[in-house]
Amino acid sequence: MRLFKLAVFATFTFLVTAPAVAKGVSEIELREHIAVLASDEFEGRKPGTPGEAKTVKYIAEQWAKAGLKPAASDHGWFEPVPLIQRGRGDATFVFHSGGRKLRIVSDEIILIGKDAQYAKTGLPVVFVGIGVTADGGVAADVAGKLALVLFEADNAPPKMKSPRARREALIAAGAEAVIFVGDSQGNWPTLRRQLLSRPIGLESREKRAELEGAMSTEFAVALVTAAGRDWDKLRAHAKGADYTGEALGVDADFNVSTDIYRFNSSNVIGKLTGRKKGSGAVLFMGHWDHLGLCGPEDATDRICNGAVDNASGIAVLTEVAQRLARKRHDRDIYFIATTAEESGLLGAYAYADKPVFPLEDIVISLNIDTIAIAKRNSKVAIIGRGTTPLDATVEAVARKTGRAIESSTDANDFIQRQDGWALAQKGVPALMVGGSFADLDLMQKFLGSDYHGPNDELTDKTELGGAAEDADLHIALGQYFADTRKYKSTKAGE
Ligand SMILES: [Zn+2]
Repeated sequence: MRLFKLAVFATFTFLVTAPAVAKGVSEIELREHIAVLASDEFEGRKPGTPGEAKTVKYIAEQWAKAGLKPAASDHGWFEPVPLIQRGRGDATFVFHSGGRKLRIVSDEIILIGKDAQYAKTGLPVVFVGIGVTADGGVAADVAGKLALVLFEADNAPPKMKSPRARREALIAAGAEAVIFVGDSQGNWPTLRRQLLSRPIGLESREKRAELEGAMSTEFAVALVTAAGRDWDKLRAHAKGADYTGEALGVDADFNVSTDIYRFNSSNVIGKLTGRKKGSGAVLFMGHWDHLGLCGPEDATDRICNGAVDNASGIAVLTEVAQRLARKRHDRDIYFIATTAEESGLLGAYAYADKPVFPLEDIVISLNIDTIAIAKRNSKVAIIGRGTTPLDATVEAVARKTGRAIESSTDANDFIQRQDGWALAQKGVPALMVGGSFADLDLMQKFLGSDYHGPNDELTDKTELGGAAEDADLHIALGQYFADTRKYKSTKAGE
């Protein structure tokens, strides 16, 4: 009897505890979250839309179920992120030269003000070429003027190729208005679409001129010709690397109204409280937002569901939270689902500016983005390799989970394109670790096809093997870095 009883007890123990300990995150568990987050009902999870409300509610519910506690600054789940969108309103404008009104037969100009109303008379117009010199500076005298800038920037220094970088340089040099000229190779429709799409901004970090916008080459040619200048000569001259700009002898009067829409989006923040107060914290993050309706207006499916980008990351975050919540750790472990990553890491920047605990306490921040790419048995790459002292430790943990390491720094090409960058700018040891950036050919295949389009949706073919494996890796990383005996941080309190 006794022996029998013992045998029953042993069997019972095995059945209850062994599978729970050994089981990793499964593809099915991830698929269930992605099926909800990337469903048409969530309308592509664009900040400020009904899709946002559904998304952040789902995440908070799942995280509560997983065992996290709400950790926003009001002790709820949602940390407000104040965002702004600007849309084109009514505008009137007149260009003068030598006291005479210029006749321009083109309406291919889009004007967007910083504020709801912008009125100005006699604003001098300077043509500045690409806007910056070979060393990235601004040589043209643009202070208090309107800078007319070529959108194309083949000969701009690498850091100044983006229109945004050049716009901000011109604003720093005092430009009151910055208007890009779309080039003849078809950049005008792109510019036009971007400006009319009401791009989302984080007002607290914005650098804006009083007036911004774009015009077609046709408009620029008409303006320059009416002012008695030759566009082709002007443009050819401007190709020189040290072009200092030319005043066109033209003044502009503007009366521009702009639709301004301010709204609060949310970062979702949850936490597992550690047992050793003051020993620092591990931070997991991933963006919940995507692009909303981004397909062409006449398409039958306009919803950009963002299954891979980044419903997959939120699915992994949620399962990692659920596993880590099963045991008490030494350090606090925070989970943040950020908003408006797609608009320029805005939720992450907002968090970096207003964290819910000191950024110095973070022993490691791990971002999870676009994770459903690789198959199982993929190598582990580190985005941020060489930027923190943590590479060797992360590699050792990865090897323990049976993973091989991709030791090149190739994945660092993506370092500025992910939320961790916003924290790294403030000195946080921020990495992105996993398989999807280990095989960059595979990643490029995604970026060149379904990425940021209506076809990034969940199908039978969506590869979740690597994501499940990376979820296990993040559980192991969380366990390791939250353990004060295993990982001895050099941070305060240790
Ligand atoms: Zn994206």
